Amino acid sequence: MLLGAPGSGKGTQGPRLAQRVGVPYLSTGDLLRREAAAGTDLGARVAPYLAEGELVPDDLTLEVVDRALAGAGAEGGFVLDGFPRTVAQADRLGDVDVVLHLALPDDVARLRLAARDEGRADDADPEVIEHRLRVYHDQTAPLLDHYAKRGTLVSVDADRPPAEVMAELDAALDAAAPRAPG
Ligand code: AMP
Repeated sequence: MLLGAPGSGKGTQGPRLAQRVGVPYLSTGDLLRREAAAGTDLGARVAPYLAEGELVPDDLTLEVVDRALAGAGAEGGFVLDGFPRTVAQADRLGDVDVVLHLALPDDVARLRLAARDEGRADDADPEVIEHRLRVYHDQTAPLLDHYAKRGTLVSVDADRPPAEVMAELDAALDAAAPRAPG
């Protein structure tokens, strides 16, 4: 799983890592945005939290995540981006093979999010960006300790060009979970 502040590069590195390992890439942010855009009942309940940069309540998040994990589990694993985001969610998920932490200073994250052009409403408002960073530090960053204690955490300096970060993630992944030859 990938752990890091908004703007740290999870959505850039995740799909590539998944391709390399040969498992699905699951981004809870993407799944929740898709649900909201589809205008389902669940999507309508999720949308206000996305707009505010607030964590979506667990009962709603888990509806989306459980469905995706069940499918991905059948394919032999997954790369997770954006889940878990709280210790409670981590307890629910259970063990993971390796947690890759994309470490990035807040001031760099702010600049990246403000410059990002993915059509995301939650990138357009500086107050929402601030709130997402606060939510990350308050609710998600405690997971760093949680996984460090379990020995599954690898931290990578994400304040570098994507190709350099990718190379380091590759090396960390090989060290933590070596692939079979061939
Ligand atoms: P992301 O694309 O990972 O930046 O997530 C965008 C938004 O989706 C977040 O600001 C939250 O509103 C929501 N979200 C994503 N993952 C979770 C999660 N695991 N738990 C609760 N809310 C989430």
